[in-house]
Formats: sequence, C-alpha cells, structure tokens
Amino acid sequence: MLIRATVNCPWNRCKFCPTYKGEKFQLRSVEEIKQDIGIAKVIQDKIKELSWKSGYGGKVKEIASRVLNGPPNEAFRNVALWLYAGGESIFLQDANSLIMRTNQLAEVIRFLWETFPDIKRITSYARSKTATKKKPDELTELHDAGLSRLHIGLESGYDPLLQYMDKGVTAAEHITGGRRVVESGISLSEYVILGLGGEEMWREHATQTARVLNEIDPDFIRVRTLAINNKMPLYNEVENGNFILATDERILEEEKLLIEHLECRSNYVSDHITNLLQEIEGKLPQDKEKMLASIDRFQALPPEERTNFRIGRRVGMYSQLDDLNDLRKHQAVEQIIHKLSHGSNQVDEETIHALMEGFIT
Ligand code: SF4
Repeated sequence: MLIRATVNCPWNRCKFCPTYKGEKFQLRSVEEIKQDIGIAKVIQDKIKELSWKSGYGGKVKEIASRVLNGPPNEAFRNVALWLYAGGESIFLQDANSLIMRTNQLAEVIRFLWETFPDIKRITSYARSKTATKKKPDELTELHDAGLSRLHIGLESGYDPLLQYMDKGVTAAEHITGGRRVVESGISLSEYVILGLGGEEMWREHATQTARVLNEIDPDFIRVRTLAINNKMPLYNEVENGNFILATDERILEEEKLLIEHLECRSNYVSDHITNLLQEIEGKLPQDKEKMLASIDRFQALPPEERTNFRIGRRVGMYSQLDDLNDLRKHQAVEQIIHKLSHGSNQVDEETIHALMEGFIT
C-alpha cells in the first residue's frame, strides 16, 4: 500500500528522471499522514466486513478483486490492490521520505505498525545525501520504529557522471549514506542505471559503480536500463548530440564489467522491463559465473538472432533468451523487424530507443 509521507522530490534535478519535473516538493504534517492511514484502515475494515457477510470468512482477496472492478475512489483502489496482492508491505512515498524529521517519520512508522499489525514490512525511497545528514543513531531510531528497507537511487558510482547528470551527490557520499543505512540494521536496496554512462563513460560507470557498491555491500542491487523520453532534461542532451546513448550490446558489455568487478554479498536483481536480459539475477558472489554466462550466451548468438532478441524484448514478446526457441514468437518478431526496417531487416538504434520509451512514464 502506498502512503504519501511527503509530496514529490526535494531535489528534482537529475537529468535522467522524468518523474516529478515541474512539481513542487512539500512536506506533510504527521496529522495529515495519520489521517490517510486512518482512511486506509477504515477501507480495509469495510472490505473485511464484506468478506464475512459474503461467506468468505474474513478472507479479503475475492472481495478486493470485486472492488477493483469499480472502486469508488483512488483510496479504495489503493487499499483493494494492496489486499489483493496479500497486504504485506507498505511503501512510504514520494521520492525521499527520509527528509522528514526523524522523530516525525518514526512516529508515522510506529502508527502504521499499530494500525496494521499483520504487515510484514514498511519500506521507502531515500537519497544518499539525506542519509549522510542523518546521525547514525537517527537511522537506528527509524530501524527500531520498524522501518524495514530503504531504496536508494545510486545510479552510478562515477563522480564525473554523477555531476553531469546533476544527481546532487558524490560517490563518497553514496558510500557514507549507504554504509550508515546498512549499519543501522535497515535493509538497503541500491538502484543502478545501466547505460547511464552512454557511449563515452560506460567503462568508468561500470568499474566505479562496482567499487562503490563493494564498499556499501547493500542487501540488494537493482538494475534498470536507461530509457529516454522528452520529460527528462537528458532528452535535449541526446537531441543536440551532447550525450550518445549506448546500444544494448554496449550496455551488456558494461553490465559484464560491472558484475566482474562486484565483490560484495548482495542480491543482484534485474526486475525491470527495460533490462535486455532479465535473467541476469542471483546472489553474489556464488552466482556470479551463472550471471556472466547469460551475457556470454547472448554475445555468442549470430547477429540476426541478437537483433531478433532485442526487438522481441523491446516489443514485450520475449522475457528470456530461451524464448528465441519459441518458433511462433520468433516468426512474429521477424515480421515486426521486416516492418520496422521497411524490408531491410536492419532496425536502427533510434527505432529501438523509441520502442523503449514506451516502458517509462
Ligand atoms: S532520480 Fe530521485 S532524486 Fe533524482 S530527481 Fe528523480 S526522484 Fe528526485
């Protein structure tokens, strides 16, 4: 379930991020947030009551799915979706809840556990910079209040790239902020953007990101691949030729270099549609060879098969390399390639990047 603890992003300058551009950041009072939590509780109780009345003995999945067919408002939809998915996790929005005063955020977290004692975890987004500004005992206070996990956008560990992208944080601050979270006992998930270095900085992006992650040793490393749309400042940089987008093949080279340099014990997760090879997942260090083998397998394909796979992924028909063996899908992708390339069977990079645009909002 999503609970809005703050509104929008207090930084809002990252060149690759379209999410809150043009929107003003706002803190919310603890009372306002508690009111929203109270409303969610009332809705949960209503759905439970309906379940008893309908003979489901308090089990909510069936009733939640009926509510989802025509929810009376957004709050109902949010709670019904959450209950339908198991009702285990609550996420504090928006981009950086850690910016709240520690005692206020802790109060919200405690109130959530009191209101929904059956949940399994409370998670939120944070910026590394904000984590560096919290004292270690403030992060411990949040952990003790029941904050289970923080998701931080590391994006890269290469300083010139962080500066170019206006991330507002240095590699050293990423390490300090990340270590503080890990040492507080809060689980940490660091996001990396594959392709963020473009054609110019991909090597340094890979090796320096691995270096920073090795220092932090987060519980999770989550990768997603850069996709561009015109809501992000980076779009203009691409248009005017200042930033050259990397190809899928280059990005896989970059990912290979990143994984080769990782020496931490994190879970590597590739759970985003923008990633070419979502099967590159595993627990480090033991799964490293298996993860690299997936990249080798793609790289060993003949060029026309690599193109077939890239297009199949970008139009959402393939989810893993084994899908190349599905004759029906393979032929359908061949037809798409024929159409996109106007018969030449050579799909240009711009067309592929345009397909990826559909994956982001
Ligand atoms: S990437 Fe995160 S910190 Fe940067 S502008 Fe977007 S929401 Fe804000």
